[in-house]
Amino acid sequence: MNSRDSSRRRFLRLGTTGFAGWLMPGKGWAAGPGARALAFRNLHTGEFVRATYWAAGQYVREGLSQIDRLLRDHRTNLVHPIDRRLLGLLDELHGSLDTAEPFEVISGYRSPATNAGLVASSSGVAPGSLHVAGMAIDIRVPGRPLRAVRDAAKALRTGGVGYYPDSNFVHVDVGRVRYW
Ligand SMILES: [Zn+2]
Repeated sequence: MNSRDSSRRRFLRLGTTGFAGWLMPGKGWAAGPGARALAFRNLHTGEFVRATYWAAGQYVREGLSQIDRLLRDHRTNLVHPIDRRLLGLLDELHGSLDTAEPFEVISGYRSPATNAGLVASSSGVAPGSLHVAGMAIDIRVPGRPLRAVRDAAKALRTGGVGYYPDSNFVHVDVGRVRYW
């Protein structure tokens, strides 16, 4: 299966879960072939967003800003652009997990001050965390075992994957390919 088929299959699936708005009357697939959406629930703030971040061959500014805001540093309310490669990674991951559930987010962007505080107070937080660059996210997926999320992320061979069963999340990033 090539990537175009994969993209189209995912788009069809999105279309069956309340995302049919992009199928404009009379335009059919021309209205949004390969449109891409992501859904997140932020476990700290309770916020939910389902946003189309790519449509008609370009990024959708409104969708990107909705995602950036949901993934903000909830301790300081600072918003930072999330690396678009990370959105692509999450899109691929969501497709391979074959679920309609949103990603549950434990941690997205972290300000330098927040990250420094976490480094001081807990083990397992890196001083040079890619969260500070908007290149990493800690997630789980309702209805999918944590190890399945980890294995699917590793199979993408796109970046780092960290497994935290005690805290019930998987870290994924768009840094070097590495596993822990
Ligand atoms: Zn992380």
